[in-house]
Parts: sequence; structure tokens; C-alpha cells
Amino acid sequence: MPENSPRAFVTGITGQDGSYLSEQLLGAGWDVHALVRREQGSEPATPAAPVLLDQRIRQHRGDLADPSQLAALIQDIQPGVVFNLGGISSVARSWEEPALTAQVSGVAVTAMLEAAWRFQENSGKPVKFVQASSAEIFGSATHSPQTEETAIRPVSPYGAAKAYAHSMVDIYRERGLAASSAILYNHESPRRPLDFVTRKITSQVAAIAAGSGERLGLGNLEARRDWGWAPDFVDAMLRMAAAETADDYIIATGTAHSVSDFVAASFAAVGIEDWEEHVFIDQRFVRPADASEMRGDASKARRQLGWEPTVEFKEIVARMTRHDVSLLEKDGLHE
Ligand code: NAP
Repeated sequence: MPENSPRAFVTGITGQDGSYLSEQLLGAGWDVHALVRREQGSEPATPAAPVLLDQRIRQHRGDLADPSQLAALIQDIQPGVVFNLGGISSVARSWEEPALTAQVSGVAVTAMLEAAWRFQENSGKPVKFVQASSAEIFGSATHSPQTEETAIRPVSPYGAAKAYAHSMVDIYRERGLAASSAILYNHESPRRPLDFVTRKITSQVAAIAAGSGERLGLGNLEARRDWGWAPDFVDAMLRMAAAETADDYIIATGTAHSVSDFVAASFAAVGIEDWEEHVFIDQRFVRPADASEMRGDASKARRQLGWEPTVEFKEIVARMTRHDVSLLEKDGLHE
């Protein structure tokens, strides 16, 4: 690695976004350091876990549930940019473990902001910080689309942890750290873990197309979400890191679709039009509180970062479904 390569410290590298981010950073000649909490090859293996096979990534063992180690890591690594993509990323899981969610997706962010700011103060070397924030900070927003000015009113433990982290990013920006929040709307890819509704749909549609004979059980079919393509969203975070001024940006496509639109598009990708007979409402998957429509206005990111989404909804769903069909054809199992 050349001595003057820009250096990134990435959390969440084994996740969907972290894996795409590390590929983009390595491709651009960055020196990539990653927080990794599990032994390589340990279960459960996520779809993005193979990213760790890349020997160019320097791995540092640590857990966001124990923020006490994070300051020493940042001090040692001396990153130019911290990309904080790690944490509990599922609203459903946050209802099962609300206190852990607060620790991992809230308190740990403050620990890293403080460590980055302190390192910058002591060394005189500027540090940038990019936080993966979420549209869930808006909870059940009363208007759509949401903007950077929309009131922060989370309705889940996940949203509340992200809202706290979001406020701390703003506070450290005021304090002199170039810290930015990407207010991310849902974004998908074949690297989405199987317990997320989108990947659950595409994997089960692939199985039904292969003749499993099972039906797909879902919660709220009418919930509307703004679904984008994960590599595009990673590109937005890279643009935020490259920007001269730190700021908060909505990252979204601006178009919402319902869960039933997603289901229909996935079945269409395998040539099944009469999808209703393969689907039923399963009360176990209905969430305690669920926003009916989330749709973001990314005009500011388009204007100031030159960012725009490149893959439209039906193509995203088709790519994910084709990936699951090919996995089934290969070995009959999902990763
Ligand atoms: P993801 O696929 O679920 O990945 C989460 C990452 O966080 C994994 O690398 C996981 O590591 C790591 N992690 C979880 N708990 C940890 C802990 N205690 N210590 C250290 N690492 C831990 O999430 P994603 O979809 O890439 O999302 C990236 C970020 O964007 C997340 O912060 C998420 O909340 C936010 N976001 C995502 C979306 C979306 O639609 N994808 C929307 C809004 C916001 P392991 O492999 O060890 O589990």
C-alpha cells in the first residue's frame, strides 16, 4: 500500500453496504481498516461475509457493544475517514433487543465521534466521519416525501437509536469534526441478509418457482417504501466523504412502492403472474408500529453531491430474484 494512500476505518464491513463500500474503496486505492467482531468462517455467515477473504483489508477485532475499545482503535489506525456502517440494522430485531440496539447503534457512535474528534484535536490531522443514519428517524412522518428538515420522531427502538446517533453527529459537526449523516432509505441487493422482507420474498419466490409448493407469509402488504440499489447508496456515502463541507443528506430514489408491488415484481421475474394465490397474511410478521409510507426527497444530494440513483425498482427486484434462482440451481440451498 503506497504511503500516501487515504485511510478509511469501516465498521459493518461484513454487511451489505460495508462489503460494497470496501470494494469501492479498495478499487480506488484506499488503505482499508475494518472493525470485525467474529472469527472468519463463524456462523451465521452473512451473504457479504466473503468480503473478509480479501487480504488487503486490515481487520481489527472489536464489538460495538463494547465502545471502550473504539477510542484506542481510532488512535492506532489514524484514519482520514471513519465510515460507521455497523450496527443492528433491522427494525424487527430492535424490538427484540432494544437496549442492545441503543448501545450498538447509538452509544457506540458517540464513542467513535468523541475518539475521532479527540484524535483530530491532539494530532492536528483532520478526520471525516460518515454515519449511516436512517429514514426510520422520521417514524410515522406526517408528510411525504421527507426532507432533511422533517421532524425527527422515531417509532421504534431502531429509529430511536439512529435518532440519538444522528443528533450526536450534528453536535460533533458543531464542535469541529467534519461529520455527516446519510439519511438512508431502504436499499437492497443480493447481499441483503435473508431475514429482511425483500430478500425473504425473492428467496421464497425462487423456491416457489422451483416447485417448493409452499406459500409466502407476509405482514403488511400495503406498507410503502422507497427502495434503492445498495451500491448507489454506498456511492452517495463516498461522495459525502469527498465533499468539502460536512452535512446531512437524504439518500433516496423519491419513488415509493408497496410490499405487494415488490412481491408482484419478484413473481414476474420468474414468469408467474397470478402471484396472489402463492401469498398469505401472517400475523406474526405484523410490526407493533409501522410507518405506512416512507419516501425521501434527495434533491439536496443531487444538487450538492451530483448523486443520483442508477437502478430502478423492477430491475432491483429482478436482479435479487435472479440471484436467488441461480443459488437454488447451484446447490439447492441459500447462503
Ligand atoms: P447489515 O447488512 O445488517 O450489516 C450490519 C453490519 O453491522 C454487519 O457487518 C454486522 O457484523 C455489523 N454489526 C452488527 N452488530 C455489531 C456489533 N455489535 N459490533 C460490530 N459490528 C456489528 O446492514 P446494511 O444493510 O449493510 O446497513 C448498513 C448501515 O446502514 C446500518 O447501520 C443500517 O442501520 C443503515 N441503514 C441501512 C438501510 C438499508 O436499507 N440497508 C437503510 C437505512 C439505514 P456481523 O457480520 O458480525 O453481524
